[in-house]
Amino acid sequence: MGGDGGRGGARVSAVTSPATTAPSGGAVPGAVHTLLPTTIVGSLPKPSWLAQPEVLWSPWALEGDALIEGKRDALRIAVQEQTRRGIDIVSDGEQTRQHFVTTFIEHLSGVDFDRRETVRIRDRYDASVPTVVGEVRRERPVFVDDARFLREITDRPIKWALPGPMTMVDTLYDAHYKSREKLAWEFATILNEEARALEDAGVDVIQFDEPSFNVFFDEVKDWGVAALERAAEGLRAQTAVHICYGYGVTANNEWKASLGSQWRQYEESFPLLQRSSIDIVSLECQHSHVPMELIELVRGKKVMLGAIDVASEVVETPEEVADTLRRALAFVDADKLIPSTNCGMAPFPRAVAAEKLSALSAGAGIVRDELA
Ligand SMILES: [Zn+2]
Repeated sequence: MGGDGGRGGARVSAVTSPATTAPSGGAVPGAVHTLLPTTIVGSLPKPSWLAQPEVLWSPWALEGDALIEGKRDALRIAVQEQTRRGIDIVSDGEQTRQHFVTTFIEHLSGVDFDRRETVRIRDRYDASVPTVVGEVRRERPVFVDDARFLREITDRPIKWALPGPMTMVDTLYDAHYKSREKLAWEFATILNEEARALEDAGVDVIQFDEPSFNVFFDEVKDWGVAALERAAEGLRAQTAVHICYGYGVTANNEWKASLGSQWRQYEESFPLLQRSSIDIVSLECQHSHVPMELIELVRGKKVMLGAIDVASEVVETPEEVADTLRRALAFVDADKLIPSTNCGMAPFPRAVAAEKLSALSAGAGIVRDELA
């Protein structure tokens, strides 16, 4: 895995050269853009018949076969909405999972969900979490059927998000390995198995969510990036890492308020990621205090730039989105810029999320026209 340059051109074209291509400019229905292809980081709101709206990690409103069918229908709607709103690289909107980490862990052996301990998550808030009681193993595919379904219902390039190894470790109590590094390595191996299966199911971009990279800087250096590369090892699909400041929930908002006027946390991980085998770095920018010039630290990588705020229900204007993208272009080449959201949009009312998708496409369209 020798960084961006050594990787297959065929794989890149899977994302940037689909069958239908808009020559330039605004959101042309049915066409995928090769320049500034838009995407979202992860979650979209779920329909109220599937789970309680505007709540994070809310329990399912259906059971059994009705739940299976409901998740599929919600996934279908998520794809339809992204397509209609001009999103180029579509995802499942995380309609089939309750929590971005726990749903994955539920499919593994070695973790006891009935034995719970209270731990401090990301050094920020206490949560009751399951316990690692033995060797962790992936007994069966986790998201592969869902990804195959997503592949069936869209011709667009598709992206799938998985939790990153360090963030998984940070969401559990470990009574077995008693070493965060060892457990991360086990998870990286498991994630790699899942990622390879997702790739075989036709996924073009595999994203690992590592919000922990903004918190545990020593571990990021010591083993975090290495574990992430292990999770991404040997993949033909493009690989992305998403590092953010989290959803707009109280614990996160209080943490952000303590970070001062300039959020420089990316300064710790970006130089390491720049030298890593990961293809795409996803960061938040819109309305955050991240100095734009930090993007320079991952020069050469593709940048999934957060141009949509997920902590405010105020919908950005296309011009605002365009302005954020223009400022980023001082630090990233246009052919490497992927306009995106800051993080997931699950807690929003559905209409707000949908309008934000439209604003993202329209803003990217403005800048595309300027570049053409
Ligand atoms: Zn995020």
